[in-house]
Amino acid sequence: MTTIGAIYSFLDGFAPFARQMSWDNSGLLVGSPEDEVGRVVLALDATGPVVEEAAQKGAQLILSHHPVIFHPLKKVERGTPVYEAIRLGVGILCAHTNLDLAEGGVNDALAEMLSLQKLQPFEIDSQENYVKIVVFTPEAEAGKVAKAMGDAGAGALDAYSHCSFSAGGVGAFLPLEGASPHIGQVGRLEQVEETRVEMILPRGKIPAVVAAMKATHPYEVPAYDLFEDQAVRETISLGRIGELETAFSPREFAQFVKERLQGGVRLVEGNRPVKRVAVCGGSGGDLVELAARLGADALVTGDVKHDQLLTAQSLGLTLVDGGHYATEAPVLTKLQEKLQEAFPGVEFLLAQAGKDPAKTL
Ligand SMILES: [Zn+2]
Repeated sequence: MTTIGAIYSFLDGFAPFARQMSWDNSGLLVGSPEDEVGRVVLALDATGPVVEEAAQKGAQLILSHHPVIFHPLKKVERGTPVYEAIRLGVGILCAHTNLDLAEGGVNDALAEMLSLQKLQPFEIDSQENYVKIVVFTPEAEAGKVAKAMGDAGAGALDAYSHCSFSAGGVGAFLPLEGASPHIGQVGRLEQVEETRVEMILPRGKIPAVVAAMKATHPYEVPAYDLFEDQAVRETISLGRIGELETAFSPREFAQFVKERLQGGVRLVEGNRPVKRVAVCGGSGGDLVELAARLGADALVTGDVKHDQLLTAQSLGLTLVDGGHYATEAPVLTKLQEKLQEAFPGVEFLLAQAGKDPAKTL
């Protein structure tokens, strides 16, 4: 029997939850990894009607893009999606920015929907994903502690794992009344040969790495620090950039996007034919300048604000605002196919109640 945990692990394999943006809240937000699953409903949002539909269809899990819990909850009232999901025994697993960034995720699905070829990442440097842990251990245990932190995901750099740096020095401490020190005695200032071990790690792995360090460190109270690491940048591709088979006029291109996404679009007409296209599903209006700098003739995204429309206009960039929902929805079918193939014994359904809340007239 398949469990929610197995589905989580499968998603984690191509859209690692640890790679979500620091402000995001992707993960298993309702339910337990051990819960068994025979049917799953997929939606961009786990709204009340989607929860109801899942329960009616006998699904044990909703896989949603937007986190059902995003801002801290002050109460869980009857009728809210979280309350109803718990009451009806439906788990909610949310894959948000980790799915945006993933290969085969939101942006690849959107690019594919628009038949873009020669896809490349639409790159943004992120500095927020790495931190450095510095731990002080007795010389003899340094290797063991570094190994445990490496096993938990610290020190991974491209094709290398367990990368660390160690240097010797002298640590000092005075055990107070009530302490039971690994080395030394209560009331006596100790000086010990120690090793300083440094490793980098993605922000999302802090809990696992700190737990692994504490579990192997011999000291009662290990001394460690976590620092922001601005030098190690992971290239995070928030979007994709690719080429159309044939060039369109800006207006033709907007029409083409409208047909493919089956929704309404807003258009800023650029000053040139559209061949090279940048895409960012959801909310990518702040990528206008970057898209232009990377030589895109057009940007397709959603949630574009007035000032961003003006920037596109001034840069001569064609901007097609296809709406937040419509630019993200293509990923649902892709996910459904992928999951169905991986778990043939589980039924994956697209929520009928999951719709764009806004109508285009
Ligand atoms: Zn979104």
